[in-house]
Amino acid sequence: MSDSILMVGAGLSGAVAGRVLAEAGHRVTVIDARDHIAGNCHTERCPQTGVLVHVYGPHIFHTDDGEVWEYVNRFERFLPYKNRVKATTGGAVYSLPINLHTINQFFGKTLRPDEARAFIEAQADTSITDPQTFEEQALRFVGPALYEAFFKGYTRKQWGCHPRELPASILKRLPVRFNYDDNYFSHRFQGMPEQGYTTMVERILDHPGISVHLNTRFTRDQAGQHAHVFYSGPLDGWYDYDMGHLGYRTLDFERFTHEGDWQGCAVMNYGEENVPFTRITEHKHFAPWEQHAGSVLYREYSRACGADDIPYYPIRLVEEKELLGAYVARAGRESGVTFMGRLGTYRYLDMDVTIREALDTARGFLNHRARGTPMPAFTVAPL
Ligand code: FAD
Ligand code: UDP
Repeated sequence: MSDSILMVGAGLSGAVAGRVLAEAGHRVTVIDARDHIAGNCHTERCPQTGVLVHVYGPHIFHTDDGEVWEYVNRFERFLPYKNRVKATTGGAVYSLPINLHTINQFFGKTLRPDEARAFIEAQADTSITDPQTFEEQALRFVGPALYEAFFKGYTRKQWGCHPRELPASILKRLPVRFNYDDNYFSHRFQGMPEQGYTTMVERILDHPGISVHLNTRFTRDQAGQHAHVFYSGPLDGWYDYDMGHLGYRTLDFERFTHEGDWQGCAVMNYGEENVPFTRITEHKHFAPWEQHAGSVLYREYSRACGADDIPYYPIRLVEEKELLGAYVARAGRESGVTFMGRLGTYRYLDMDVTIREALDTARGFLNHRARGTPMPAFTVAPL
């Protein structure tokens, strides 16, 4: 039997889950409060320069999930792209993530891999056996000098608090390499959609069973008109924030243009705290197969997210986790709605994980329908 399904959000979560359900014969209505699809992955061409701009900040696709890689390539051609980040600190430019080149350049040495490992280990605080905080993780694995130069200031700017207040998991996202591999990611599959993420999402949504309505904000009374709602908006927003706002960091992008090549790379991080922005991104370098005389750049500033700002990074410290627990307990008692995606589950999710979870959630719904069992409010535990 064909059901009417409401998908709140036309980002990757809503588009991918909507497609699975439409292909299974359901009628899917996708709404989004914004005037465009693709959520935070949205890309658009700058009319002046022709550069493909990552409107909400740079997005590089990387995954070990073979099915997800096949899925995205079904809708758009992905061209090879390796993220090679540079960092300016102490008046010099280095390579990130920390690798043998960074170590040799920073310390003025010519160490080989084993020597570098021993050299860093000698500086590391080996009394830290089970690092809990960002700072402990840094002091244990890169030592104080590299921590101060590359991580301490950047992290204070990015998160608005001292690295000793943050969990070690944030730094564990980054590798430390004792070779010259300067690829920011270690995944099997890495690339960029040739015509951008919005083109890819447009094709995912292009199905006769899907209708898309932009500039349409969800209100709870719309839920009753559908057999089920998949909600990829903010979890606390479902409840009109009546127990308070879950904490996020938001970003301000200071856009500027330039004739020629401004910085010679896609991403330049700024490690020092007295430089007010965290990084500068030069968008034409995210599509190195294109040629443009002009250039579009973003200076990226991070700050606390206010009620009218776009939430980017969930903070997930103790206070937020308590409030999250209260919202999750309440949401768990709902029927007829499933919370998904980075906002619906209040987690930092990479695009590949978002797609994997959207595929699994929609398939789970089909299985529950087939068995006549109720679809849960969460298919992935947010805590
Ligand atoms: P979103 O993209 O946020 O989509 C949710 C949609 O719901 C939005 O369009 C919103 O307008 C809509 N919505 C919300 N509330 C309502 C409502 N009440 N009514 C109607 N519509 C509503 N991932 C990577 O893999 N690689 C990267 O390099 C990378 N870089 C990133 C850089 C930054 C700065 C950030 C913040 C994230 C980055 N990510 C990256 C993560 C990536 O953005 C997410 O994985 C992805 O956007 C999640 O998709 P989503 O659909 O869950 O959420
Ligand atoms: N980080 C840092 N200096 C850098 C890059 C990253 O201190 O030059 C820290 C920062 O706290 C960041 C974390 O490492 O949040 C993880 O880095 P990643 O590049 O994954 O950040 P994200 O993609 O979340 O912006």
